Amino acid sequence: MKLSQRIQNLKPSAGFELLKKAKEMKAQGEDVISLAIGELQGKTYQPIRRAGQNAIEEGYTKYSPSAGREDLRKELAKTAQNQWNFPISSENVFVANGCKYVLYIVFQSLCEKGDEVILPSPYWMSYTPLISLSGAHIKILATKEENNFKVTADELKQSLQTNSKIFLLNSPNNPTSAVYTEKELKSLGKILMQHPEVIILVDAIYDRLVYSGKFAPHLLQVCPELKDRLLALNGASKNYLMTGWRLGWLFGPTKLVKVFSDFQSQAAGCANSIAQKAFATAFQDCEEDIAQTIKELKKVKELLINSLKEIPKLILYPSEGAFYLWVGVKNFIGKNYKGQTLKSSRDIMEKLLKDKKLICICGEEFGRPNYLRLSYVTTPSHIQKAGKRLQEFFLELR
Ligand code: PLP
Repeated sequence: MKLSQRIQNLKPSAGFELLKKAKEMKAQGEDVISLAIGELQGKTYQPIRRAGQNAIEEGYTKYSPSAGREDLRKELAKTAQNQWNFPISSENVFVANGCKYVLYIVFQSLCEKGDEVILPSPYWMSYTPLISLSGAHIKILATKEENNFKVTADELKQSLQTNSKIFLLNSPNNPTSAVYTEKELKSLGKILMQHPEVIILVDAIYDRLVYSGKFAPHLLQVCPELKDRLLALNGASKNYLMTGWRLGWLFGPTKLVKVFSDFQSQAAGCANSIAQKAFATAFQDCEEDIAQTIKELKKVKELLINSLKEIPKLILYPSEGAFYLWVGVKNFIGKNYKGQTLKSSRDIMEKLLKDKKLICICGEEFGRPNYLRLSYVTTPSHIQKAGKRLQEFFLELR
């Protein structure tokens, strides 16, 4: 059977592959620790779980409008309006089955061959296949280590071309956990104001998981003038521990919301109605839960950092949001491990998995070799164990 060229070029998600691997190893009784997964371990917060049960009992199990349930769109618009301090209506909100699917719809609706999407690296690994499926060309903008992997105004200016269709910004960032400040966003906004043809896609799916303040600053908040061509993406997966419910949304101009809804009406019908009803009813009631999650994440993050500080020449970057620690391993490339030369961060990832039963993701997957991403969504005791294994491994290198 001949598959389409599109599909032949598509690789499965590395994150999901590693998740499968960790599960298989655990099932075989191996003492494996996974720092690979981008998913908090706790249950969805209780108010939302309850609302979900009620939604099923009360019969919210039918199709909903293709743009999303009106009650949810209203709640999301109200919250965004309070957060960003300018008028947002429910007509500006589009809801779908997870951010991944929102991204798919956005690229399918806006991009084609000849268009360019500017993607800062390191980047979340699903962006590239999702953009490629639309036929658009990906222009990687390699951010600099000394800027904590954030795009500067100058770099953005240099990378914008006549065929630039979309600029994609992700803050808090996966994989670096860097969070753009208001000042940094303002300077990017100034450049974008000079390019009215460019659509700006901001992925803020980790915006409640920040270690200072209540929300991560947003480009739309500091530069509301961009609102007619800015798509502000968000979702329930990370902030509300709802990965399996599949709920994502964006704020954007009404014209585009209509385009995306029409696409969805054909391609999926609508987002999961139960998830929408549950979230609309209860997401405002989860503030204490979110605060508790951040408190726990902070603790685990500190434990991991303290144990990695014991490894000379391992480079640690600030983890300001989300739940990742981005570490530089360039000083270990070329070193000898049990008679073998480590040629790349992928080599390091594979040896850690094989010999230390520790799963993490190498920088190559995020478009930047010489780094590892460690996800600290685990218990303090597991993170201490993981830290020890990492110490043992790096201290064994000659
Ligand atoms: N955007 C970023 C930056 C992510 O890290 C992820 C998941 O890892 C997503 C989007 C996907 O979120 P969803 O579960 O809503 O599809």
